[in-house]
Amino acid sequence: MAKYTPMIQQYLSIKKNYPDAFLFFRLGDFYELFFEDAIQAARELEITLTGREGGTEERIPMCGVPHHSAESYISQLINKGYKVAICEQVEDPKEAKGVVKREVVRVITPGTVMEGKMLEDKKNNFIVAVVREGESLGVASCDVTTGEFYATILDDEPSTLLNELSYYHPSEIVVEKEEVLQKIKGDLQQQFSAVITLFTLLNGEGEGDGDISVEQHFQNGQALSAIHKKSVALLFGYLKETQKRSLEHLKRVDVYESRQYMILDAFSRRNLELTETVRDHRKKGSLLWLLDRTSTAMGGRLLRKWIEKPLIRRDWIEERLQAVSFLIEQWMARDELKDLLQQIYDLERLAGRVAYGNANARDLVQLKRSLSVIPAIKNLLLTHSETISEEAARNQIQRIVSEIDECSDVKEMLETALVDDPPFSVREGGMIRSGFHEHLDKLLEASRSGKKWISELEQRERALTGIKSLKVGYNKVFGYYIEITRANLGAVPEDRFIRKQTLANAERFVTPELKEKEALIMEAEEKSVELEYQLFVELRDKVASQIQRIQKLAHQVARWDVLQAFASVSQENGYVKPTILDMEENRFDIEEARHPVVESVLEEESFVPNDICLNHKDNQILLITGPNMAGKSTYMRQVALTVIMAQIGCYVPARRADLSVVDRIFTRIGAADDLAGGQSTFMVEMNDIKLTTVQATRHSLIIVDELGRGTSTTDGMAIAQAVIEYIHDRIGCVALVSTHYHELASLENHLPRLKNVSMAVTEEEEEVIFLRRLQEGAASKSYGIYCAQIAGVPGPIVQRAQSLLQVFEKQQQEIAVAQDQTAVQLDIFGETVQSVQPMKVTEPAPPKSHEKVIKKLREIDLIHMTPLEAMNTLDQLKKMLD
Ligand code: ADP
Ligand code: MG
Repeated sequence: MAKYTPMIQQYLSIKKNYPDAFLFFRLGDFYELFFEDAIQAARELEITLTGREGGTEERIPMCGVPHHSAESYISQLINKGYKVAICEQVEDPKEAKGVVKREVVRVITPGTVMEGKMLEDKKNNFIVAVVREGESLGVASCDVTTGEFYATILDDEPSTLLNELSYYHPSEIVVEKEEVLQKIKGDLQQQFSAVITLFTLLNGEGEGDGDISVEQHFQNGQALSAIHKKSVALLFGYLKETQKRSLEHLKRVDVYESRQYMILDAFSRRNLELTETVRDHRKKGSLLWLLDRTSTAMGGRLLRKWIEKPLIRRDWIEERLQAVSFLIEQWMARDELKDLLQQIYDLERLAGRVAYGNANARDLVQLKRSLSVIPAIKNLLLTHSETISEEAARNQIQRIVSEIDECSDVKEMLETALVDDPPFSVREGGMIRSGFHEHLDKLLEASRSGKKWISELEQRERALTGIKSLKVGYNKVFGYYIEITRANLGAVPEDRFIRKQTLANAERFVTPELKEKEALIMEAEEKSVELEYQLFVELRDKVASQIQRIQKLAHQVARWDVLQAFASVSQENGYVKPTILDMEENRFDIEEARHPVVESVLEEESFVPNDICLNHKDNQILLITGPNMAGKSTYMRQVALTVIMAQIGCYVPARRADLSVVDRIFTRIGAADDLAGGQSTFMVEMNDIKLTTVQATRHSLIIVDELGRGTSTTDGMAIAQAVIEYIHDRIGCVALVSTHYHELASLENHLPRLKNVSMAVTEEEEEVIFLRRLQEGAASKSYGIYCAQIAGVPGPIVQRAQSLLQVFEKQQQEIAVAQDQTAVQLDIFGETVQSVQPMKVTEPAPPKSHEKVIKKLREIDLIHMTPLEAMNTLDQLKKMLD
């Protein structure tokens, strides 16, 4: 290393500690990258690769970006999943002896981005740490921009971990050893674009030392269990290591049990199009899109969280529903609330920036403006809640509202300190309100009066010298001057004026007095700018000490924002308040249910509502048959969406709904229906079926669309029947199953709690009309060929298919007869199940006339035949056929 110049040596010794990050090395107004970093960054950022002398014979590869536009380059690298270490000059180059001291001040990683440009307003940016402890996993998650910090414990089971991760959609996952994620590696890559970071708590911190820092830093640090602590310590340690600051906005760990929420695996979430569509991964067309009438970014993020984690506690659900009712009834209050919310900035992220020390005066003014809206919101809600007739509901809402902490002290502090419209920069003054600080006022007054004296100087000197064209001006090099045109030079008072500069047709002068005033102004300005900065930082620190109150307030505001969104959508679309039943009741009665999203996008034709009745007594499983395009998938999804909407506390698209709480929803789609997802293999379907059957409880809701579709008819039908029987006899939860095997309808005879239903169609002169109405009983046929016809498949194909269908249907009737004779009693799953019918497919019997030919063929002794004899026999056989 000795051969390198001292600066490059410094670079290398810093770079050594950040092998997995691009090191942005500050050199004057640029960030420079060297060696491998430079080569790779030049490629990724499409900037020019140059070189630099570094003490060796070969030039060192180098590229750089101006520091003022660095953010966009950094964001490009972060978006590609890289990390960036920012290395600044930490001493004044003028005072430096030798090479300027430099240090890494922050490492920016996909999970720790703070900069607005790299973030989406209505989406969290989570970083997650996973640790293993015996049979369990500890999972800690944090959004550093909003200050949310969560911890939970999971069973060490790949699908459980995936479910949890898919809720956070982390952009970065921190683990001590990669082996923790081994089992889910494939799925991880497929489902998220998260960067995986290996991190170990630093050597200085021995076993358990991370715990101590967690206990000291977090308010509830001591109350955390060992495994919570372990995951929090890992994540917090990593954040400290990369962010290199106090992280005062991360003060509380929200511990939750994953059992507090309905479990929705990633596949179900995707399939139900909760936050994005299956087809193009866009928000538009999803449930989130439909419900998102939030006015604030915080509300938008909270809504997403609610949708991804529906509640299972009845009292919590009812609390939300109550507030929604209130806001529906008080629609005037709701409109006003919406207006007020619109005046609130992103409190969570403002709080984050304050704590990070990168909030400027404009951010603080935004904070102040937001805070000043809170009293009006409280007042509005309290006044209008007086009208709630039911006492318990009224009390509850009033209690929740009164608990809102207006943070008026913080607001006043900001109001007295800051002007209304401060500049973007915190280094140029102009931020602090006059009257806030005596000395600052004096400095500002000094500079103001100095400037006033100068501005009056022109008039004064014109009068004194009699030169009408005398001018006072200013430039950066010479400061203030008096300019006299050449023609008037004779009138210059040589005793007072000192010549400074000669121009083509004028001369510039100063006076000792002018220079004195100028120095006074300069000094006052310099001092005032410095003082303003100090005062500003003090103010920011004071606000930072109140961060948790602001965060709590932000959450309360977000909550009311989501509730008003629910109220607005529910009222506009005519939703009803669901009656939430106990989980144990296992009853789902929905009158005139609709699919909220399909309904909202159907333009001319209106959506046909359908009832649903599911319970453990006699309607446990609905087997839905019906032609393609009849509305089976829509119907099943609308049931799931209704349940989810109810459990997030929203009204539901129906005329009436009694709903038991469900603990999980599984949705599975036959492989063929999921081509868009690109995972259409039969294996995937079977894997899903495995998980469903292992994880579902009596209180789950299972939806299987096109069961057994990904394989051959007989296989598929056999598996479908076995799965249905298993749900019916073993799991015992309610289920909706659609299938194109209408043969499965016969299961109704054997499974007492299974009901056949179908989507009604009528035929009118060759034309099939979809009624979209659910009816009892199975569909008689599938109309697939009709679909082919309306899709424009050529006539000959359609006709050929029609005649083939007749042949197949005839064969099937024969099978049915055969089956009735072979109905047996089987012991499946270790229990005796009545009258299970094995599926059996026989070859069609040959016509009688061919029997002689077959007999003859069997008798032939090929080995002892000559070729000629063979030819003759062949001829004979052919004649027999004719
Ligand atoms: P299937 O699963 O039976 O093939 P889908 O559920 O995919 O049928 O429905 C096909 C189309 O029919 C949907 O895209 C939707 O536009 C329309 N549709 C479904 N159900 C209804 C309904 N109840 N009322 C009106 N249109 C509906
Ligand atoms: Mg379908």
